[in-house]
Amino acid sequence: MAYDYDDQNIFARILRGEIPNSTVMETDHTLAFRDIQPQAPEHILVIPKGPYVCHDHFALAASEAELVDFMRVSGRICAELGVQPGEGGAGYRTISNAGGHGVQEVPHYHLHILAGRPLGRMLEQA
Ligand code: 5GP
Repeated sequence: MAYDYDDQNIFARILRGEIPNSTVMETDHTLAFRDIQPQAPEHILVIPKGPYVCHDHFALAASEAELVDFMRVSGRICAELGVQPGEGGAGYRTISNAGGHGVQEVPHYHLHILAGRPLGRMLEQA
């Protein structure tokens, strides 16, 4: 896999406990915490504990245990926020930015979960 993981990135430092975070959920393989600059009333980042750079890296290289755990944590957060459309919630958006065109800022895979207000269209028109 042609990814070179930078273990000095800010989320690696959060995982090592070098930088504080506002944890909302933690399992053996996954950590979820509040974004430091929230773009919505609820803005949570879900990250694997393993050294994965972006979505495709994680999706193709992670173990099944890591993949399942990550997805379950993301679902449990939606449930805890009360935003599941199927349960009468108002909905939410998940985003994962990758690389240059994706404008990824932190090179450790993360899923944004945004909720708590109408979020507009997915992308601005070019
Ligand atoms: P990206 O652009 O890589 O998808 O998003 C990175 C996200 O990480 C941004 O929304 C940014 O606000 C958030 N972020 C950057 N540094 C920190 C930090 O030290 N703590 C937390 N909780 N979030 C951070």
